[in-house]
Amino acid sequence: MGSRLFKRFIQYCLLSLLAVFTFVPQSQALDLDAVRFGLHQDKTRLVLDLDRSADFRAFVLGDPYRMVIDLPAFEWKAGDVDSPHNAGVLETRHGNLKPGISRIVFDMNRPVSIQKAFTLPRNGDKPPRLVIDFANVSAGLFTRTKSSVFGTLNVDDVQSNVAFKGLATPSAPIPPKKAEKPLIMIDPGHGGVDPGAVGSNGVYEKKVVLALAKELKKQLEDSGQYRVKLTRETDIFIKLSDRVKIAREHGADLFISIHADSLENHSVSGASVYTLSEKASDAQTARLAARENKVDLIAGIDLSVEDQDVVTILTELAMRDTTNQSKYFANTLVDHLRADRLKTLDTAHRYAGFAVLKAPDVPSVLIEAGFMSNKNEANQLNSASHRKKIAKALKKGVDRYFEQVRKNQRI
Ligand SMILES: [Zn+2]
Repeated sequence: MGSRLFKRFIQYCLLSLLAVFTFVPQSQALDLDAVRFGLHQDKTRLVLDLDRSADFRAFVLGDPYRMVIDLPAFEWKAGDVDSPHNAGVLETRHGNLKPGISRIVFDMNRPVSIQKAFTLPRNGDKPPRLVIDFANVSAGLFTRTKSSVFGTLNVDDVQSNVAFKGLATPSAPIPPKKAEKPLIMIDPGHGGVDPGAVGSNGVYEKKVVLALAKELKKQLEDSGQYRVKLTRETDIFIKLSDRVKIAREHGADLFISIHADSLENHSVSGASVYTLSEKASDAQTARLAARENKVDLIAGIDLSVEDQDVVTILTELAMRDTTNQSKYFANTLVDHLRADRLKTLDTAHRYAGFAVLKAPDVPSVLIEAGFMSNKNEANQLNSASHRKKIAKALKKGVDRYFEQVRKNQRI
């Protein structure tokens, strides 16, 4: 074969290979191309256009009323959904629920019941579709029918009874503390289907708190003094009780939840640090905690099957020691934020019943690094150099906390 012919032959082979790979079905994310509602006299038909047939799961939840659809991890290409209020749909949210699974949550203003849910294959120029027919029902009928689940997607299982028996109860086995470096669990708030606060610059809380958590992890690890883990490293939803569970299962020595919330009053700015208390220190703090505790609802988790123990442990004496340590740590953090000239609220250490702070044996704080509702602060939180400054101050607070812990152990 002449060299030119040989080159041709190689080119031909490469092109054929390329063709083969192009037409091999890809195992990448499903495309969700459109979401449409059709109003009929006796029902509303919801149609999702997909790029290929997919398994699904659909169900409704009460208190507040929601309709939830789970699909294999998808890429949302449907843009903003026009939620038809006359069909009872207030708002549509979507995002990752867990690896491989995405979720859509429709907030409803009234009880509805799913009548039928089925898929349609590609047909001429019509793409593969998921069709959900739902109708208004009375509150009584809703209660009787709400446990029906349509579709067969295996989600392994968030909706059914996930019993964390013993979670966060003082009697649960506590991993023995090791003579290793202390383990710090950093918990970036929100994620996936739950974006958290949306900044006045359009940036999501879930994004900036993950970036800040990663920066803090880096600085703590670089010091060589700590082991550090994150409850989430990606844009994924984790239930509040699971965040607590992760910290306890790893035997964390410290739990730091990071948030950046919003207030109606956009002029308010400054960081604050929260520790657990049954009674909130003020009305604003109570509203903040109520909103943070609501994220499981946002993600379409059925709280009626969630464990009750996180509520009951509040009264347990076992928490007293942890609470004192948490308070000491919170004050230390505030001192260092101020020493580094980072803006804080006037009363920067506050108390509220954040569900994520309820591990009875892990000192825990929740940091609101600033307010996404304040334009200046939202921009600062979105900047890597400002996050470095915050992380640096927080790291100094962690250092001081463990110095004190070591001192106490020597006594
Ligand atoms: Zn938050």
